[in-house]
Amino acid sequence: GLQCGIVGLPNVGKSTLFNAISSGKAEAANYPFCTIEPNVGVVTVPDERLNTLEELVKPQKVVPTIIEFVDIAGLVKGASQGAGLGNKFLANIREVDAIVHVIRCFEDENIVHVEGRVDPVFDKEIIDAELQLKDLESVEKKMQRIDKAARVGDAKAKAELELLKQYKAALEAGKSARTVQASPEEREAAIGDLALLTVKPVIYVANVDEASLPDGNQYSEKLKAAVADEGAEVIVISAGIESQISEMEDPEERELFLGEYGLTESGLSKLIKASYRLLGLITYFTAGVKEVRAWTIHRGWKAPQAAGVIHSDFEKKFIRAQVMKLPDFAQYKTEAGVREAGKLSVEGKEYIVQDGDIMEFLHGA
Ligand code: GDP
Repeated sequence: GLQCGIVGLPNVGKSTLFNAISSGKAEAANYPFCTIEPNVGVVTVPDERLNTLEELVKPQKVVPTIIEFVDIAGLVKGASQGAGLGNKFLANIREVDAIVHVIRCFEDENIVHVEGRVDPVFDKEIIDAELQLKDLESVEKKMQRIDKAARVGDAKAKAELELLKQYKAALEAGKSARTVQASPEEREAAIGDLALLTVKPVIYVANVDEASLPDGNQYSEKLKAAVADEGAEVIVISAGIESQISEMEDPEERELFLGEYGLTESGLSKLIKASYRLLGLITYFTAGVKEVRAWTIHRGWKAPQAAGVIHSDFEKKFIRAQVMKLPDFAQYKTEAGVREAGKLSVEGKEYIVQDGDIMEFLHGA
């Protein structure tokens, strides 16, 4: 499944947020290293379109798609040199698809700040620096490895070395590998085998006190300004409020509670949606009477590849797909109605699945 790793300095609110995500499995406590094992929390991806489909189809069950969050603890200054749980957290980060970087944007005298003061930009740089140092090591190792080949005129090694030099320069300048411009092919050749940490897409979570909802405060503003050139999103969340929301089962009660803080949706919901956007993910649906279900794919995937998410055989033995658009289905109510209106399309192997498509796959035996 898709995984987002939650990172950040100790005592910034990671466990509190993680708790809210996984409804109470991790321990939040007021000291560094309290979350030693990487915990995995699973959330369903909120999607109003599933409600529409449920009303139309009245299926036996509805299955939303999921996203996993991993609480990655132990990131402190010096981690790249093995301080704290250095190498363990780095190995954990290598495995995730995206990074959720939680940054403390709240003041509270009772909660120790490991660096002694609240400074979101400085905190972000501490974490970035540790990841960048580790990446620099990987890049330098590879440069040494291919240096000889490049010098004896191997064109492929030469090209890779040129790009690796750019990565090295960026990392040495305190920039992340994701800021280096290169074509996907060049990038794959040069660093595809390195599993760099700072190429992974990132979302920043500004953890604010409840009084700073919904728009944030001076700290979250500073953070936004500092990451503006990365094109990264900053999501304002109050981890404490999120954990309260996560305990509310009644949707109406939730909505009222959110309203009190000027919120229209939970921070978690914002975070999930942002993760989706960040990773270039889209959803298609299957809508049978047994099951209405949402499936996650990458933007740009063709029909057979999308079918493969359901079952690998669907991809291998793909024949064609029948596609309805949700607004048409909502208007004509049944598949037969959509067909009669001439809005049901039959697509082949080259069809690029669109967000919100209702798909039915025909495959060989
Ligand atoms: P972690 O070390 O990053 O996992 O941080 P925790 O989630 O354990 O939080 C550290 C402490 O900060 C806990 O006592 C939390 O209750 C508290 N905390 C988390 N978020 C907030 C917040 O938004 N405001 C305030 N005042 N305290 C918070």
